[in-house]
Amino acid sequence: MNLKDPTLFRQAALIGDTWIEADPSNAIEVNNPATGEIIGRVPKLGAAETKAAIEAASVAQKGWAARTAKERSGILRKWFELMIANKDDLGRILTLEQGKPIAEATGEIVYGASFIEWFAEEARRIYGDLVPGHQPDKRIMVMKQPIGVVAAITPWNFPNAMITRKAGPAFAAGCAMVLKPASQTPFSALAIAVLAERAGLPKGLLSVITGSAREIGAEMTGNPTVRKLTFTGSTEIGAELYKQSAATIKKLGLELGGNAPFIVFDDADLDAAVEGALIAKFRNNGQTCVCANRLYVQDSVYDAFAQKLAVAVGKLKTGNGFDEGVILGPLIDQPALEKVEEHVADALAKGASVVRGGKRHALGGTFYEATVLADVTKEMVVAREETFGPVAPLFRFKDEADVIAQANDTEFGLASYFYAKDLARVFRVAEALEYGMVGVNTGLISTPEAPFGGVKLSGLGREGSRYGIEEFIEIKYVCLGGI
Ligand code: ADP
Repeated sequence: MNLKDPTLFRQAALIGDTWIEADPSNAIEVNNPATGEIIGRVPKLGAAETKAAIEAASVAQKGWAARTAKERSGILRKWFELMIANKDDLGRILTLEQGKPIAEATGEIVYGASFIEWFAEEARRIYGDLVPGHQPDKRIMVMKQPIGVVAAITPWNFPNAMITRKAGPAFAAGCAMVLKPASQTPFSALAIAVLAERAGLPKGLLSVITGSAREIGAEMTGNPTVRKLTFTGSTEIGAELYKQSAATIKKLGLELGGNAPFIVFDDADLDAAVEGALIAKFRNNGQTCVCANRLYVQDSVYDAFAQKLAVAVGKLKTGNGFDEGVILGPLIDQPALEKVEEHVADALAKGASVVRGGKRHALGGTFYEATVLADVTKEMVVAREETFGPVAPLFRFKDEADVIAQANDTEFGLASYFYAKDLARVFRVAEALEYGMVGVNTGLISTPEAPFGGVKLSGLGREGSRYGIEEFIEIKYVCLGGI
């Protein structure tokens, strides 16, 4: 596999302080979506191992929380530095199992590591409050304490960053974490667990369990020792986990699906809007929950924008992520490819037209052509469901009120984007969009400094920023009397 440090590629799971090697008779095979080749195996574990990991986490967490914030911060900082020092190997592992181009994969490692860096810094600033008392002899003290053992379930589209966004604040706050990475992409998770050990993270504080999602998820949600579940994935599974967590009244962090609108007003800089659309729509081959899913373009600039976008999209090379100049990789698997095909077929059957692309790529496998569709309307499936692929559907709109109504006409509310110059319009539209995040004149909004998260069916809670750490903290009020 050509790694500088081959020990980063572990075909194992980490339960407490023990690595369990994959046994070929009971393993999950992981493939390279660009070639279909098996790249390795991880153990197929279940409820018993999850329970053991939660117990180990519970023990380790107490010692971790008792350390000074500065000590925790130092270990996180070291972890961040090791990720950066090994970014080429981590990027290669990521491209192999996920398919995104190597430059983008290495970019994800740097982005993912930046959450560890940010929360290493935040670890030392978890301040409480001293509130004036309600009686002369009383003082009100507000303490912030770690919530305890956290369970995390993460998806395949960002095999590194969706973990670091959760692990960073959890460890900074003094929590332990039991992680189940997506079965398509476990090796990126295991590689950063190796680095966590090297950074000095105490044994048992982080477990990485591979195996049956249903069994592991059931133990995580049912086990009363777990005080918080943090999940990134589909709304359907998120809702299921929400239900399962009810009996033990867990705190929930849910980063779920989106259906992001990307609006181009007639006063926008069209070239900048095209550039933003390329990033917002085609990053990770359209497989992110903040990807633009519906592009709304105002009547008078619709044709010009469609033409410019088609030209720009035509320059995006599709292929194996390790090949020179490739910008768009394969889709993750066959069902993902079929979903994209169904969305395009539905749109075409209901009157949309192909400006560019519109079919499987000549490379075969799960490759799909970068596609631009025009004359798209709200009756089509692409208006309601996340396509999660390289398809840009262009809707037409008349005026501000019309587009705000269309943009908000969805059960989701994660990311949204718009391009406009008029300052008053910028404020009006930013305030009117029912989304957790709004990108104005930019197609890229994710960064550790900002609170990432959604409203409506897109989830609960925020990740990143100073708000992100609050999700892993309990507030304790101490009433001091007799003063
Ligand atoms: P995606 O469409 O991104 O694969 P999923 O919600 O299916 O979204 O998967 C996200 C994560 O949730 C993955 O780690 C997956 O293995 C896990 N998962 C899927 N089904 C369940 C379940 N029933 N219980 C717990 N975790 C699950």
